[in-house]
Amino acid sequence: MRCLVISDIHSNLAALQAVLDDVQNRSQSYDIVWCLGDVVGYGAEPNECIDLLRTLPHICLAGNHDWAVVGKLDLRTFHDTAAYVVEWTQEHITPQNMNYLKARPERLPHGDYLLVHASPREPIWEYITDVNVAEENFDVSSESFCLVGHTHVPVVFVKDGRTGNVHVSLPSATVPVTLKRDSRYIINPGSVGQPRDGDPRAAYAILDTGSGAWTPFRVEYPVKTTQKIMKSCHFPPRLVDRLEYGR
Ligand code: ZN
Repeated sequence: MRCLVISDIHSNLAALQAVLDDVQNRSQSYDIVWCLGDVVGYGAEPNECIDLLRTLPHICLAGNHDWAVVGKLDLRTFHDTAAYVVEWTQEHITPQNMNYLKARPERLPHGDYLLVHASPREPIWEYITDVNVAEENFDVSSESFCLVGHTHVPVVFVKDGRTGNVHVSLPSATVPVTLKRDSRYIINPGSVGQPRDGDPRAAYAILDTGSGAWTPFRVEYPVKTTQKIMKSCHFPPRLVDRLEYGR
């Protein structure tokens, strides 16, 4: 099975559309979209993004911003600017899309794969930012391959099957990583709608579960289009500006 793996769209329609166009332009086929949560938050097009996602064969996990919008998380745990957009989203989301968000699962085991937004241990909240946190999460999960989002940084953590050591690698775009059957992995495709690794281009990956090939990609999108819509909704300037820096 070939999966288009995306995460953290964050109501950025231009970025999501650019990813879907890029997949086509590269003649990369896929059977299903695996979306690792945070479809909404930060951006101003929550309904447009959910509507587009729902036209595709897909599964989608719950992220912390999705949970906040549906009222399952305390907004006081959010940064002011993020909380502002959560409340704006609550006012603008359609009842159907609110129901869609409410129905998102926190974790989804899928054969050898575990899909969560944040981490196996804390599927909504924990940031897997280094090998120590990754190692602790390898210890609490049994699946060989765990796919996560949440940090908005594309990364591959590997637990070597022979040595048991955990190391990290930053994958290069378009260079496939071959997932070995005797090792375990925690992999993040990066963020579609708000990258934070210093590269403002939208991030995604194609996973071939048959061959074990994980191929990360980056694609430019019209950042100014997204920023214009956010400005017209009077969103905090920090959220608007950060998109062009990828921070
Ligand atoms: Zn996010």
